[in-house]
Amino acid sequence: MKKAVKILVIVTMCSNIAHAFAQASMEEQVTDTDGNRFCPTIVLTGPLHIDLMDGYGLNVSITPANYSCSSVEFIINDRYTLQKGISTSCNLQAKKAGRWRIQAMVDGIPSNTIIVEVLYPDVNAIMNNPAVASAMNAAWSATKLAASASGRAEYGFWIFVNTATMSYECAPAQAGRMVRGSTETHASITIRIPGEQPSISPLQGGKYAVAHFHTHTPLTYCRPVAAFRGIGPSTADNTVLTSSSYRMPGLVYDYIAVWDSFWGEFGLTGGHNLHASAQVYTFGVDRRATPWY
Ligand SMILES: [Zn+2]
Repeated sequence: MKKAVKILVIVTMCSNIAHAFAQASMEEQVTDTDGNRFCPTIVLTGPLHIDLMDGYGLNVSITPANYSCSSVEFIINDRYTLQKGISTSCNLQAKKAGRWRIQAMVDGIPSNTIIVEVLYPDVNAIMNNPAVASAMNAAWSATKLAASASGRAEYGFWIFVNTATMSYECAPAQAGRMVRGSTETHASITIRIPGEQPSISPLQGGKYAVAHFHTHTPLTYCRPVAAFRGIGPSTADNTVLTSSSYRMPGLVYDYIAVWDSFWGEFGLTGGHNLHASAQVYTFGVDRRATPWY
């Protein structure tokens, strides 16, 4: 009877009643210097939105502050141990996009739960990554090199984030169909299914498509009046990447538009300098949608 009263006292002081019963051995650890029993309050905080490969930035605060803990565990979706030790912070890099329920356990005492959305990177982060920028520049050079009086072709590739190596990766550039003459001012490229290697848990690294890139072709070897086109993403580009199941950002390397007095609009005119100014244009969605698990 006396024991039951003691337990009742603990229960009323705990924020998580069920867990107080489950942790019988906790009674030794929740005695303060005056011999009074208490149940520490565990509060988990961290950013609610991070990008893939960002640190989780999780912190646990324990009240009272002088509580000496022997185990701090950060748990995702009640079953994946992200980190276990005595550190009250966790800044491991996120390996899988998703909306994750994260909770901390301090000596088996649970914290509040927070939902952290691990986002795919946005198109600006993707295009500013040095490895991606380098691959895009190489594809643009290849596009210009491939252009001649006998034809021209677009080049393109999927861009991935590999969370096993924590780096961006670009698939080898694939050349599109060679087009000739000035009748088709736009070349084209076939967008194939990206070769992803998704992981089964948020603890494991995987390879995820985050955007698609392609180049547009020069009209240097076309006749000035006969060949004219707008620059940047075409209607077809927008349609393919945004209305298909991909729903991923698009990037296209193309020339910068100049005024064409014959056509009376800005665009790219046949016979232009092959090495005229060019840039990467972005289109479609800002970032790939976060999956639900
Ligand atoms: Zn295009």
